[in-house]
Amino acid sequence: MSSPRNHGSSPAEAGSYPDQPSDRSRWIVESRENRLRAVLDPRRPVAFWVEEERQADGSIQSGITILIVNRECPWRCLMCDLWTHTTQRPVEPGDVPAQIEFALDTLRSPARGWIKLYNAGSFFDAGAIPTVDHPQIARLCRGFGRVIVESHPRLVGSPTWRFRDALDGCLEVAMGLETANEEVLGRLNKRISLSDYDQAARELKGMDCGVRTFLLVQPPFMKPSEAEEWACRSIDHAQGCGSDPVVVIPTRIGNGAMERLMRSGDFSLPSPSLLERVVGYGVKRGRGRVFSDLWDLERLAAGDDDVKVIRHRLEWMNRYQAEVGAS
Ligand code: SF4
Repeated sequence: MSSPRNHGSSPAEAGSYPDQPSDRSRWIVESRENRLRAVLDPRRPVAFWVEEERQADGSIQSGITILIVNRECPWRCLMCDLWTHTTQRPVEPGDVPAQIEFALDTLRSPARGWIKLYNAGSFFDAGAIPTVDHPQIARLCRGFGRVIVESHPRLVGSPTWRFRDALDGCLEVAMGLETANEEVLGRLNKRISLSDYDQAARELKGMDCGVRTFLLVQPPFMKPSEAEEWACRSIDHAQGCGSDPVVVIPTRIGNGAMERLMRSGDFSLPSPSLLERVVGYGVKRGRGRVFSDLWDLERLAAGDDDVKVIRHRLEWMNRYQAEVGAS
């Protein structure tokens, strides 16, 4: 997915990341500078495709991923660049179902293992996806074994259970925990604590919903020498809360804020080999699926990493949940 970004020079160079939480969103939005938002049609998804994913029972199932167009997420997480593919105004009731219908009609795929409705925010944010659309979205998801949506942990609640009840398949909710390091988590402007995530995961499990967790490898404000240990501890934490799968994402630049943190020495890019070691830890533990997010992996390549070989090994681990060569 490409975005019309302009990585120009930096008039907002001065000023370090605020200590005061109330000042952080402004700093993060200012850091966007002249990065552009994509021009989007609210009746058409950003993108959609068919792909395979390993399931908890070890089978490989095909499913459909749809990236939904909707209003920008009201949180302003430090590392997030998803706003580039969102609108500034809310979409109208009926727009999101129209996007899903368009994707399904265009793909005409028999893949029915699962469907991911990713909206660059929270599915249960009524300002993003009108709640009045939930029943129609549930109807469009008929026949899919599993429906996967994203949500900020604080928005898990009554609308989640109503949507679950309207589905004929299982509901899985993907949440960004980002890191189990409380101090770093607190600085990401996500405005959750570890216990907020724990509680949301507990409620989801208690309501028979699946939990998928996104984790960052080497987030800002974490010493590179501690990044591997914290990523592994974060996998353990998410799995201890019943998350399966856990998706490990190398922290990237691209939203302006991360570039500023690089310049101030508060962030450095994780290497592909670090990502591989973290995922290797997770698959060896065997407590649940651990996937790596491989989007734009090549931009992380540094030093002696052979990124093509690492990408191949990570794809293997995603599919087989074992290290290459492990019997
Ligand atoms: S909650 Fe998710 S989508 Fe919203 S700003 Fe944070 S990372 Fe981005």
